[in-house]
Amino acid sequence: MKYVIGNWKSNQNITESLIWLDQLAALHPKFSTETTIILCLPFTDIASFNHKIADLGLPIISGSQNVSHLPPGKHTGEITANMLGELVSYCIVGHSERRREFGESSEMVAQKARLLLENSITPIVCLDTPYMDEQIKAMFNFDVDVSRCFFVYEPIDAIGTGKPIDPIDANHITSQIGFLTDNSAPVLYGGSISSDNAAAFTNQNRIDGVLVGTDSLEPTLFASIITSLS
Ligand code: PEP
Repeated sequence: MKYVIGNWKSNQNITESLIWLDQLAALHPKFSTETTIILCLPFTDIASFNHKIADLGLPIISGSQNVSHLPPGKHTGEITANMLGELVSYCIVGHSERRREFGESSEMVAQKARLLLENSITPIVCLDTPYMDEQIKAMFNFDVDVSRCFFVYEPIDAIGTGKPIDPIDANHITSQIGFLTDNSAPVLYGGSISSDNAAAFTNQNRIDGVLVGTDSLEPTLFASIITSLS
């Protein structure tokens, strides 16, 4: 199985997200039973998005982009894994933007992963080489079952730049991530993925899919990526 994960980041309100779905459906992308499509949305979009994918019969699974590192309780404004459990099957954790802009540590990311698993949500753990070992070690320290997680190698210099790294170099790092996680979990690549390059990454022997930021926002570009992998 290969995976395409979209990450809308802080874009699209409810209305825009539903228009995006209508536009995607109208493009008739070539979905394959060998490729799972996951779209990670802003919290506010998820409920109505779920209704609409069911109405349209689209093989897309929703995810979120973040979760609290705390359990339910007195934490004003936090969205807990327990709340998300009724809405999503996947959740991105540890994206480099959250580390940079919100000071998230490897320990917080491990706590999030653990709470997600307790609520039957698959954590999609983003990694880059400077903190890859530390993050994976933190997962083991917090007793996170890494075999139930996804990992994504996301070199920071390749994110949003239009300049992906060489797929062979990416495969080298994803292999290392696989080794550190007992080769028990899918390992993906993210960073300037487009329909022109997605297959070059998924054709590597240790890359199980791609995480797409910029090109997931535009239905035509996202549909082309889906079709390019079918
Ligand atoms: C990302 O932010 O995770 C990402 C992969 O973005 P982009 O596709 O724009 O490089």
